[in-house]
Amino acid sequence: ARHDGRGNHAFYTREALQQARRRLKIQHALRGAVDRDEFSVVYQPLVHVDSGIAPGIEALLRWHRPAGGHCGPAEFIPIAEDCGEIVRLGDWVIAEACRQAAAWDEAGLRFGRMSVNVSAVQLRDRGFAERVIARCRQAGWPAHRLELELTESALVRDTELLRDCFDTLQSHGVSLAVDDFGTGFSNLHYLNRFPVSRLKIDRSLILDIQRSAESGDLTRAIIQLGQAMRMQVVVEGVETAIEEQLLREHGCDEIQGYLYTRPLPPREMAQWLRSGVP
Ligand code: C2E
Ligand code: CA
Ligand code: CA
Ligand code: CA
Repeated sequence: ARHDGRGNHAFYTREALQQARRRLKIQHALRGAVDRDEFSVVYQPLVHVDSGIAPGIEALLRWHRPAGGHCGPAEFIPIAEDCGEIVRLGDWVIAEACRQAAAWDEAGLRFGRMSVNVSAVQLRDRGFAERVIARCRQAGWPAHRLELELTESALVRDTELLRDCFDTLQSHGVSLAVDDFGTGFSNLHYLNRFPVSRLKIDRSLILDIQRSAESGDLTRAIIQLGQAMRMQVVVEGVETAIEEQLLREHGCDEIQGYLYTRPLPPREMAQWLRSGVP
């Protein structure tokens, strides 16, 4: 039956239809979901390799769908980008993360930055940078302690709009990190064009680091490349103490991953900050 072209065709058509139907359902359910309070934010620390303190916290979005089952950000963010809903949703995440950061700071918890993921669609929305600064002000969170995580694809097109956006952010001290580094483009031009202060190396790049010397060499080379360009280098998705040890030897600045903790709801994150620092 595998070689029966028509059977296969029917199968793939059904798959594709099911997928399209799910996308549509999610797109529909996303509309107005911010106002219905269906989202929350969980937090994961970035741990400084030498001191073991948490210099940063990343905000990650969660959706609590009243019906329709689990749907993670890797699935719903791209859909929210396609239908434009990401602009409102992204604005909500920034406001919420800044509010939480200010509350923790007020409570005497020690950490440096709050990082929020931002998609290319948000950056292209006129007035984005001004809104970010306004959110910080409203929350009482200093803009210079906010970091925005962008993927490489958000930075490849050099436009005046993007430049103005980064100028405004930079003038208020908002820093930028490149997320998922090593998974996309090989052209590194954009790193010089824009004021990027941190590279986040994707987990996929270090998957073989325990077994293969080649993978270790590559990781070390990328860490050194980033540092030569005056950037801090973070490796994300670190799960084992052996990976941590190798990355320390390779000179990486910060580590993020299940090794320390999974992303946590606010109360547990506060507890972790109080006592759980490795
Ligand atoms: P990301 O920004 O690369 O975030 C890291 C993802 O890896 C998170 O998945 C996190 O839970 C997961 N992770 C952390 N440590 C480990 C580890 O040790 N091992 C493994 N295997 N995974 C680990 P999550 O929360 O499901 O988010 C998925 C993606 O969705 C994010 O990838 C980001 O691209 C996007 N995303 C999440 N929240 C937002 C948001 O507020 N705005 C935008 N635009 N995108 C978001
Ligand atoms: Ca991220
Ligand atoms: Ca990432
Ligand atoms: Ca990722």
